[in-house]
Amino acid sequence: MRSRPARSMILPRMVVTGPGVLEQLPAIIAELDIPERGLIVCDSNTLEIAGNQVIEYLEAGGHPMEKIEIGGANTKELDRVEAYSDKIDFLVGLGGGRPIDLAKQAGFNKDIPFISIPTAASHDGFGSARASIRQEGRKTSMQAIPPIAVVADTSIISKAPKRLLGAGVGDIISNKTAILDWKLSEQKADYSEYAAALSEMAAKLVEDGIDKVANGSEEGVRLVVKALISSGVAMSIAGTSRPASGGEHKFSHWLDSNCESPALHGEQCGLGSIVTMYLHGGNWKIIRDTLNSVNAPTTAKNLGMDDDMVLSAFLNSKEIRPNRLTILDVSNSDEIKDAALATGVIG
Ligand SMILES: [Zn+2]
Repeated sequence: MRSRPARSMILPRMVVTGPGVLEQLPAIIAELDIPERGLIVCDSNTLEIAGNQVIEYLEAGGHPMEKIEIGGANTKELDRVEAYSDKIDFLVGLGGGRPIDLAKQAGFNKDIPFISIPTAASHDGFGSARASIRQEGRKTSMQAIPPIAVVADTSIISKAPKRLLGAGVGDIISNKTAILDWKLSEQKADYSEYAAALSEMAAKLVEDGIDKVANGSEEGVRLVVKALISSGVAMSIAGTSRPASGGEHKFSHWLDSNCESPALHGEQCGLGSIVTMYLHGGNWKIIRDTLNSVNAPTTAKNLGMDDDMVLSAFLNSKEIRPNRLTILDVSNSDEIKDAALATGVIG
């Protein structure tokens, strides 16, 4: 038997999910035994949704808080957040994506603990170790560490636009093809059966409970939130993003880099997954139907793009992370085009 390299895992210490859990913030902070001064990273929207409330709870618990409102997740904004590092002991990222990415990356770069408070469930970034930051206009996925705590208040997340929840379903459902792609290189040392099983289970639970998600119930929102957190944990267990990122993610990253107005990450990954599941010879219809149930895009048109752009993204996705072997790397152009046509993703 081949020996495998040792692995270390960094996981969140606390994950609190449910309606109204924001109120538990002072108790959570006390439990984590975090030193005094904090910085909340938010944008104008999330400040209003929950930011002022978070500041109030933390200050009442004896933590003087600074706040920074950010415009985007780019290196300039990252510098602004990091400039606070001498004055603070912990970071709170509050948002759907960008504030969390910045707080996570700043926390990693400056070795400051970071707490994640998602206001939407549109992708698995709020519990994962990776941060997506724009560098010279290009979205780049950077290595960081997971939050020390995730506080996901489902009453707040339930109020987010339904489009974001649909994108979250897309990001989760794409775990299925990410795992199949990972298995293509199963002999490689980074394959983890535990991580793969957890990631697949998260996708399966959302697929099975999609009616609850579609009717917008708190229970359905919680299902997606828990699945997205599980995805982040699976990646932390594996020490790589492979359990939740395969060819469909390369497709999405290509669109982010080459399309003037890309769609949401989860929307692109979900749609990508329909085509890569077809190429794997698996049940792509269930992916399409799951996405349709939550009105997530299943065609180029619904994604707001023309067929040529979407086909180019599938054909050129091998340019992205060429060392990550996926079904899109081992299929030829005709097979990829046929799959996009046969699934109705392009017409
Ligand atoms: Zn993703």
